[in-house]
Amino acid sequence: MFMTLGAIVGRLLHLKRTCPKCKKEQIVPLAKKHDDINCKCCGTKVPPPKK
Ligand SMILES: [Zn+2]
Repeated sequence: MFMTLGAIVGRLLHLKRTCPKCKKEQIVPLAKKHDDINCKCCGTKVPPPKK
């Protein structure tokens, strides 16, 4: 089975977060989906988005 392009894009979008400090987009690995990540650019903690 192939994943549709929409499903892939949707998954990627869910794993993107914007750093609150420098506004850079961060790609979050699946394993870190529910964890804080550190911004690659400034090191600020970026919490998972709340639903
Ligand atoms: Zn940052």
